[in-house]
Amino acid sequence: MTSDCLFCRIVAGEIPATVVHETDTTLAFRDIAPKAPVHVLVIPKAHHTDVVEIAKADPGLAGQVLAACAAVAEAEGLPEGGFRVIFNVGRNAGQEVFHVHAHVLGGRPLGPMVMA
Ligand code: AMP
Repeated sequence: MTSDCLFCRIVAGEIPATVVHETDTTLAFRDIAPKAPVHVLVIPKAHHTDVVEIAKADPGLAGQVLAACAAVAEAEGLPEGGFRVIFNVGRNAGQEVFHVHAHVLGGRPLGPMVMA
């Protein structure tokens, strides 16, 4: 838990979130500013800054985050139509919250992968 980290505070229950899936090690909740009909953020409960850092520090936990993404997609009915999983890393990707999170997006055609 990092007290100045927004997503650690959601894990701690200090900031409300609409939780859609939870395991011992992961939490998934709806994005506050959804970019698609389904837009869920999947995080490890432990603090890691980004996908590169978690992959090096705890690859097993990184795999659990991916498994949670798959479970969320199933629960939201996304696999049939297809969906997207995005990890933003750093400045060029526009990462705003430095607690690793996967965006699970779907529910409509999502358009080109990278916006101009
Ligand atoms: P990123 O740009 O990859 O760091 O994405 C951060 C995401 O967190 C954005 O899509 C925000 O809309 C989302 N977000 C910020 N604050 C909250 C919150 N309190 N609850 C849910 N999602 C949030």
